[in-house]
Amino acid sequence: MSWDTSGRCGSRKPPYSALSPAAGRTRLRRHPAPAGSLPLALVRICVLAGGVGGARFLLGARRLLGLDEEAARADSPHQIDAVVNVGDDAWMHGVRICPDLDTCMYTLGGGIDPDRGWGHAGETWNARDELAAYGAQPDWFGLGDKDLATHLIRTQMLGAGYRLTDVTEALCVRWSPGVRLLPVTDDRCETHVVVTGGDDAAGRGDGTGGGDADAAGPRAIHFQEWWVKHKAQLPASGFVHVGAEQATPTAEVLEAIEMADLVVVAPSNPVVSVGAILAVPGVRAALRGTSAPVIGVSPVIGGAVLRGMGDACLDAIGVETDALAVARHFGARSGTGLLDGWLVAPGDGPTGADTAPVDEGGIKVTEAPLLMTDPDATADMLTAAIRLAGLDVPTRGPGITGATGGAR
Ligand code: GDP
Ligand code: CA
Repeated sequence: MSWDTSGRCGSRKPPYSALSPAAGRTRLRRHPAPAGSLPLALVRICVLAGGVGGARFLLGARRLLGLDEEAARADSPHQIDAVVNVGDDAWMHGVRICPDLDTCMYTLGGGIDPDRGWGHAGETWNARDELAAYGAQPDWFGLGDKDLATHLIRTQMLGAGYRLTDVTEALCVRWSPGVRLLPVTDDRCETHVVVTGGDDAAGRGDGTGGGDADAAGPRAIHFQEWWVKHKAQLPASGFVHVGAEQATPTAEVLEAIEMADLVVVAPSNPVVSVGAILAVPGVRAALRGTSAPVIGVSPVIGGAVLRGMGDACLDAIGVETDALAVARHFGARSGTGLLDGWLVAPGDGPTGADTAPVDEGGIKVTEAPLLMTDPDATADMLTAAIRLAGLDVPTRGPGITGATGGAR
C-alpha cells in the first residue's frame, strides 16, 4: 500500500467508504481440510489481545505456526488474526495514541523496548521535554520522539478519512508483524474509570487531567490517566466504555472470529484489555456463534498478575485475582459466557487438572506452564491450548530461528 498523509492515497485498496462495514461483509467459506489430514487441522487462529501480554502471546503463536520469517509467510497455510483492544486509545497533544496496537506492532516488528515492554527501543524524549518546557498538559504521559512519528502518521491518515483498520495496516507495512493486527472497532470506544478523590477531581475525563480540586464526588477519568498518572492507585469502582453504544466491530474482526479454526483469549488484562474488546457490541455474540473452539489463557498465576497492576482492575469489578475466578468471570460458552476451555498455570487448577482437563462449570480447565519467557515457551502454551481444544497441533514450520524480527 502506498500512501501519503496529505489526504491522498495511492492505494491498492478501495477508499474508505467502500471498505466500511456498511459496504457488506465478504463471506468466506471455511477452508477445506487438506486431503489426508484430519478435519480439525489448525490453519487460522484468531487471538484477542491487549498490549504487552497480548503481544508476547502473539510472538509464541507466530513461532508455532512458522510465521517468524517473512520468507516463510507467503507459502504458509497459516494465518494469525489479532483482534486488538482500542479501549486505551486517547488523544494526547493533538495526536491519536493506540497503545495496545502499537505494543503489538513494535513487539512483533522487533522494535519494542525490551525492558519497558512498550514503546521503541533506543527511544529519546526531546519532544516530551520541550512540551514540558511550555507547561503543556498532560505532563504525565511521555511521548517518545520515535513513537511520535507513528502517532503523527496515524493522526494524519485518520484526519484524511481512513479507518483505523487501514491506518494500522499501512503502519504494519514497515514493521511486517506476520500477524494481521485488527483494531476491534474503527469507532471510538474508550475505557474510562469511575473514581473518587484524587488531585484533579471533576477532571474533564478526556485524559488531559484538567479539573476542579474542590469537586470530590465519583467521576470518570480516562483509563490512561488512572493507569499512567495515578498508577492504578486511585480507588476505582468500575469502568465505562465511552462510545460503546455506537461502536461496531469491523467486518474484518467479525470475519476473523467466524472463520477461525481456533479463537484464543490471550493472557491479557481480563478487564481493560479483553473486557474492553468484549464491550464492543457484537463481539460477544460473534464469539458465542463461531464454530471454532474458544480457549482462554490465564493472565493470573498463583493468585497474582504478572508485571503490572491488573489486579487493581479485577478489584474494581469485584473479581478475585485468581485464575479460576477470571474463568468464571468470562463464563462458559455452554452457558451465557464465551469460553470452552481455560489454561491455568500448574497448581492453579482444580484437582486432577494437572493430568487431564477438568470440567469447571462447563469450561474445560487444564494446567500448563504459562510463563511467556521466550517465544518457544509461549509456543508451547499455544500447543497446550490447541490440545485442549481437541485440534491437531501443527508441526512447526520451516525457517524458524531464535529471532523475533529485525530492529528497524
Ligand atoms: P497491557 O495492555 O500492556 O496491559 O497488556 P495486556 O492486557 O495484553 O496484558 C497484561 C497482562 O499480561 C497482565 O495482567 C499479566 O498478568 C499478563 N502477563 C504478562 N506476562 C505474562 C506471562 O508471562 N504469562 C501470563 N500467563 N500472563 C502474563
Ligand atoms: Ca493496554
